[in-house]
Amino acid sequence: MQTPFSFRLGQLELMIFSDGYQDLAPAHPMIGPYEQPDRVQQALRALQLPTDVLSLDLNILLVRHQDRLIMIDAGLGTEDRTSGRLPASLAAAGIPVTAITDIVLTHAHTDHTGGLLHPDGSPVFPHAIVHLSQTEYDHWMQELPDFTASPLDIAPEMKTGLTTRIPEILRAIQPQLWLTTPRATLYDCIRLVPAPGHTLGHSMVEIFSGEETLLHSADLLHAVVLLQRPEWGMFYDMDFGQAARTRESMLQEAASNGKMTMTYHLPWPGLGKIKKGDIGFEWEPATASGR
Ligand SMILES: [Zn+2]
Repeated sequence: MQTPFSFRLGQLELMIFSDGYQDLAPAHPMIGPYEQPDRVQQALRALQLPTDVLSLDLNILLVRHQDRLIMIDAGLGTEDRTSGRLPASLAAAGIPVTAITDIVLTHAHTDHTGGLLHPDGSPVFPHAIVHLSQTEYDHWMQELPDFTASPLDIAPEMKTGLTTRIPEILRAIQPQLWLTTPRATLYDCIRLVPAPGHTLGHSMVEIFSGEETLLHSADLLHAVVLLQRPEWGMFYDMDFGQAARTRESMLQEAASNGKMTMTYHLPWPGLGKIKKGDIGFEWEPATASGR
């Protein structure tokens, strides 16, 4: 069992766990859906990344603040054989699932919410308040979400998968759900930062203690190649153009302030610095990865 990556931010104790990973195949059109396949594959190969698969790590940040144990997102859970490792990883670090007091969801995609439920629909984290943006909730609970600005528009099966499973999860966690305003502050250590595009209510999460801050960029970066080519985007981006602009401005800001950035999908633990590169931006991981 992998030990969590632990560090401090001011008075806060932070840990990064893994729920495992999820493979989407092939890498194109998952990345750069509107680009020529050759161009994307060439860029991936130059970064020593596979072209047959887009492998997404599932990095879960845990913040300990006084009597709160706050998790950012909940993993994919047991929907995939390569994921669902979070409860055991927490237990191995002496944290039972019953000890988690809060889960802040960056958005409602199943690789962030699937881990909230056991296969029988009962809650994995029975004592946690689940915080989710009202905008995100409303978007997925409406009859027919609008996919016309997304590459998903031409993928009926994927659309049906999302519009069936997400409301199912949101209904099941209803008793735990607490809907938030766009820039909500929680427990004097967490601030939501709207980052629309990947989904309508997609939020980044700023963790703060005194003057120190760490930005969790949620789903703005699914692969290192998107630092070089933020405009290439990702197949699941709901508003493709807006997601690209949000990604670009986050990268600009992170590169100019030089602070650590947390990512959900880059290789575990997903923590690193964003720098200006020869092409676009570069990722400087905080540590060597290894699941
Ligand atoms: Zn995701």
